[in-house]
Amino acid sequence: MATKKTIPIKSATPKNQYDCLKCPGYCCSYPLIEVTKRDMERVARHFSVSLTVAKKKFFRYDRSEKSWCLRRKNDEHFKKICRFFDTEERRCTIYHARPGVCRDYPGEPHCGYYDFLKFEREHQQDKDFIATTS
Ligand code: SF4
Ligand code: SF4
Repeated sequence: MATKKTIPIKSATPKNQYDCLKCPGYCCSYPLIEVTKRDMERVARHFSVSLTVAKKKFFRYDRSEKSWCLRRKNDEHFKKICRFFDTEERRCTIYHARPGVCRDYPGEPHCGYYDFLKFEREHQQDKDFIATTS
C-alpha cells in the first residue's frame, strides 16, 4: 500500500467520482502518512501551540522512512487510523488544517478505495456496509 495519504470531505461532483462523506476513511488508515514541517506548523497554529508541543503530541518521527508522520490511534474497522480522525463520525477533525498530502489525495477524479466500497455495498445490498481491505 502507498505510504502517503489523504482525506475526507470531498463530495462527488461532475469532476470527482467519489464522495468522502460516504466513505469510512480508508485513506486515513494508511500506516504512514508523511507530513512536512509546513504541515506541522499549520497544525500547531490550528491548536495554538508551539511547533515543539505539536510535534510531540500529534506527530512522530519514523526512523526507517526518515520522515515525520501523523500519529495514529485505535479504530474498530481498520485497527489503526490517524489520530485526527473522528471514529464515530468518520471524518477528519482538522479538515482546514490537514496536511498537504491529505489535500492532494487521490489526485484524480476516481478514488480506488471508493470504487471498491461502492462495489461491495452494491454486492451486499447495504448502503452502509464497511468493507475492509485486509
Ligand atoms: S489529518 Fe485528517 S485527512 Fe489527514 S489522515 Fe488525518 S484524519 Fe485523514
Ligand atoms: S478513501 Fe477516497 S473516498 Fe474515502 S475518504 Fe479517502 S479520498 Fe475520500
